Amino acid sequence: MLKLENVSKFYYNKGIIASGFTKVNLELKIGEFVVITGESGSGKSTLLNVISGLDSYEEGEMYINGKETSHYTEKDFEDYRRKYIANIFQSFNLINSYTVYQNVELVLLLNGYKKHEVKKKVLDMIDKVGLTKFKNTKVSKLSGGQKQRVAIARAMVKETPIIVADEPTGNLDSKSASEIIEILKNIAKDKLVIIVTHNIEQVEQYATRIIKMNDGRIIENTEIKKIENEPEAKKSIYNNISIFNKYRLGIRNTFNIKTKFLLLFAVFLFMSTAILAEYASFQMSEVESLDEGYSLTFRDLSENRILINKKSRKSFTNDDYEKIKQLSNVDYIVEDDIFLDSGIMLTRNEMSLYGNLLNIDTLKGNIDAGRMPKSENEIVIKIRKDYYAKDKTNEMLNKTFSVMKSAGINGYTNEKTKDLVIVGMQYYTDEEKNTYDIKIYAKKSVLDELRVDINKNYSTLKLLFNGKYQQYTVEPNDKVKKGKAIVDNDFKYEFKNYAILNKPVKVQVSNIYYKDELNLTISNTYNEYNFKRLTGLEKYDNNRYRIFVNTDDYNSLYNKPSYQSSVFVKDVDNIEETISQLENLGLTAKKVTDFKVSDWGAYSQVIKIIKVVVTIALIIVLFFISYLIIRIILKSRNIYYTTLRMLGATYKNVRRILDIELFTNSTISYLFLMLFIYLVKTNVIALEYIAKLVSFLSIKEYVLMYIILIVISRLISIKFARKLFKNTAINTYNEEV
Ligand code: ADP
Ligand code: MG
Repeated sequence: MLKLENVSKFYYNKGIIASGFTKVNLELKIGEFVVITGESGSGKSTLLNVISGLDSYEEGEMYINGKETSHYTEKDFEDYRRKYIANIFQSFNLINSYTVYQNVELVLLLNGYKKHEVKKKVLDMIDKVGLTKFKNTKVSKLSGGQKQRVAIARAMVKETPIIVADEPTGNLDSKSASEIIEILKNIAKDKLVIIVTHNIEQVEQYATRIIKMNDGRIIENTEIKKIENEPEAKKSIYNNISIFNKYRLGIRNTFNIKTKFLLLFAVFLFMSTAILAEYASFQMSEVESLDEGYSLTFRDLSENRILINKKSRKSFTNDDYEKIKQLSNVDYIVEDDIFLDSGIMLTRNEMSLYGNLLNIDTLKGNIDAGRMPKSENEIVIKIRKDYYAKDKTNEMLNKTFSVMKSAGINGYTNEKTKDLVIVGMQYYTDEEKNTYDIKIYAKKSVLDELRVDINKNYSTLKLLFNGKYQQYTVEPNDKVKKGKAIVDNDFKYEFKNYAILNKPVKVQVSNIYYKDELNLTISNTYNEYNFKRLTGLEKYDNNRYRIFVNTDDYNSLYNKPSYQSSVFVKDVDNIEETISQLENLGLTAKKVTDFKVSDWGAYSQVIKIIKVVVTIALIIVLFFISYLIIRIILKSRNIYYTTLRMLGATYKNVRRILDIELFTNSTISYLFLMLFIYLVKTNVIALEYIAKLVSFLSIKEYVLMYIILIVISRLISIKFARKLFKNTAINTYNEEV
């Protein structure tokens, strides 16, 4: 069966050559029970490894069934091992995290047996070595003798003609040792058993040949019983492991070491969370920078918006608008330009909506929920469907919201000016998704009413009183007569002889569109006792040092016809032509996009590039950190996979099984993350900021992240398998132990 002619084995170690064994001549037959003894370091293990095809040899020739093997490749030896060899080691080489059954089963699965074929074989074999009681026990819980029995069961179950046992009793007490030898003797029939041991007495009675080695040479080779007619070696049959069984092993490996599973779970979770969060916050800062990056004057920077004024600086009339509407490219006109660039605040309970107030006539497309307004105070809003975190349609539709009164530039008082009912909603399309602007569509009458408040928000009011500009507050009041003002009684001390009545008060208003003024005379002064009668208001103490003027007078300061309007064109490509047509009508016309502040724009480009670079760099760093951690975690798997290799797994098998293991692990982590995001999105877990962050991620990004995870798993398993197969099986194993 086996014949060695002058075979030598050398080790090359950093330029130094060491001899494993030298010029060994040997012929071994099926049916023999060969015992090898010798001092430690005499080359016994090396010889067994070469015979097993686990290691290469450098000189001489080894014949297997008469065939030369010096030209054998690693693959040929692999085939040889699978057909002929079963190994038993001093250190057992079992998979500690597997049960007895799984360890024995493993060798059959790796050699292409189907799940249903193996069960009986495996159980029979476990019975033969007397471990039926322990078949579902993890190997790590067994004693040394029991472990070696598992190893024997595993070696025998494949039914190879040669069994090679390297000091199988070396780690066992004498009782367990003799039991093991007994079992080995029983399986020796029709096989070639080669066993290394120091304890000759234990095996002497069974041995058919005793070989003694010293210093790498055979110094004694005694044939005790001659085999006349060598029976034919019954080669073990093997196939490649089935895909199904690769999955079974991969999935079994995912879970059978809990710490490893949790560590990988944590790393995959960390990596995907960090990369997604980084990407989402990048997206978020992009959207938010749109507000900062461009004109502060114009909020609506639509490409099809043209700003128009009259060259005469007068306000627009209906006639003007009619003429403009005649132009073919004009889609619609927003008369009160200010509505596009300022917002109103609607509140209801805890909820507030800040958005542009627009004429319902300019709403495009269909309503997605509810209906169009019928009565005066009904409105439609256009909003993200997921309004930050979740669909809040039910909290808004058919609900009454109050418009908050403005308190000067960009501020709001607690006072409510008007109630509006949201009767319809339109959602932004997917392309528009990332805009957080809310648009509030109302009837023209509502716009007229709120114009006062909006204008007030963007105007400055000055008070000229007693020949000086004063800081006092001006308030509208219905009880005051037109052209008159009622002032705090204390103001009289500023006047000569306290003669305050009939003195003039001038109220000046100015904003970017117009200047105007009111000339009033003081008709009355108020004090603690007459305050309620004069003004109809309750709290005198809260209204000290005020100037009350007639409400219509006051509103006339703000309720101006429009001085600046916006034209929206249908076709942006022809916008220049429309601009010149508008200019021909006596207007100044400019695209709103011309008002993007260019310096700031260029600056924001630089910021954007920096942000992109930082984001990419961070993602790459995260990727590598995770990659390194995973590799460190996987180092503990080296022994497992070398053992697989020694049992007959090929490079591709190892890669695939590891692949499945990492794939399963990363998929579970990712599903966990997806579940978390889902719970945040549906507000089961209330985390406002995270909800806002994840609203910047779409299916596309989630899929991409998943693909990244899978690619990483792939890369790692390829690298891992490559490293594992770089060397002979035994060298790789020895490096690990
Ligand atoms: P035994 O099993 O009889 O104790 P070995 O076969 O393990 O002896 O070792 C034989 C000789 O080969 C020893 O001198 C040992 O130092 C050397 N040797 C074994 N393995 C290696 C190796 N991987 N690299 C270098 N030298 C080795
Ligand atoms: Mg040894």
